[in-house]
Amino acid sequence: MNEKTDILRLLPDELEALITSPPYSQPKFRAGQIFSWLHRGAGFDMMTNLPLALRAALAESCVIKTPAVERRLVSETDGTIKYLLRLTDGNCVEAVYMKYEHGNTLCVSSQVGCRMGCRFCASTKSGRVRDLAASEMLGEVIAAERDTGTRISNVVMMGIGEPLDNYDETVRFLRLLSAPGGLGIGLRHVSVSTCGIVPRIRDLAATGLPVTLSISLHAPDDKARSAIMPVNNTYPVSELLGACRDWFLATGRHISFEYTLISGKNDSPEDARLLASTLRRYMSDGGRTLPMHVNLIPLNDVEGTGLSRSSKDAVRRFSETLTSLGITATVRRRLGPDINAACGQLRISSAEGKS
Ligand code: SAH
Repeated sequence: MNEKTDILRLLPDELEALITSPPYSQPKFRAGQIFSWLHRGAGFDMMTNLPLALRAALAESCVIKTPAVERRLVSETDGTIKYLLRLTDGNCVEAVYMKYEHGNTLCVSSQVGCRMGCRFCASTKSGRVRDLAASEMLGEVIAAERDTGTRISNVVMMGIGEPLDNYDETVRFLRLLSAPGGLGIGLRHVSVSTCGIVPRIRDLAATGLPVTLSISLHAPDDKARSAIMPVNNTYPVSELLGACRDWFLATGRHISFEYTLISGKNDSPEDARLLASTLRRYMSDGGRTLPMHVNLIPLNDVEGTGLSRSSKDAVRRFSETLTSLGITATVRRRLGPDINAACGQLRISSAEGKS
């Protein structure tokens, strides 16, 4: 049997090519109708302005890979919703819905598991199972819009997985998010977060897609960074920050650096001073320091890592040291603290059957 077409993965021109050729042989405008139905979360049986025979033919040979909501945890503190989503093959990923003043934001997963091996991260503990297709990433957004009955205006790729380790599908997902007739999410409202796969950062810059790049830096030098992030052995800090500098010069878009504060590992005032001088050294152009921002995130404790969160005092001191050295830094507000909204842990507990 032929595999069914993953129809939600198709870009508008690809869907048009499919629909206008045999066995469908439909006029072009049908592709536009189908695209907009799909992106609103409709099944084929709901596409009421299509001929019945076409709906039946599509249902026969295509699959819509929107995941199903398996579990939903709603924070009583701030309305954050953490989803466990079941993919069509039974694997699960997580997504987190957050309400901000600037709009509803969804944090999406890009892989089932992760192979990057960051020591503090729950998502990588049992490695990578598989990449998500672009349709499945888009399906996370569609599922959350449908479940909440609200429109999502911002997407952050900070869920399970390393988006740039699934580069082609990530770029396809970005193109789908912003495609006319679809969800209409402007790429300026989308953040791609990476642990630092340098060649793919350069590829992403070359696409010209106006996304925000977020770099999980987490340490001020190679010694400290390699100790918690194995990717640093392949792409050291100098190469990573060199790519960040070139990203800014090519796109004009400022970079966010994520820095998770881990007690005794990367949170001393000396670490802060070293971070400030390293960022200034690399993120500069002809004597001018390029615009950038550091987000400080107190570590979410993950069982079995032996790492723990910095004290409130250490966080404050770190932040003040950076600011006094001219680096803008904010301490991330924790959303959904009562539902442990950080990603990775719900999937693990579901896989271990202890939900
Ligand atoms: N792989 C991508 C995106 C997923 S992780 C990346 O590395 O950027 C999203 C963010 O959460 C990253 O900055 C990651 O380093 C951070 N993170 C992972 N585990 C964490 C934990 N236990 N506490 C705080 N932040 C964590």
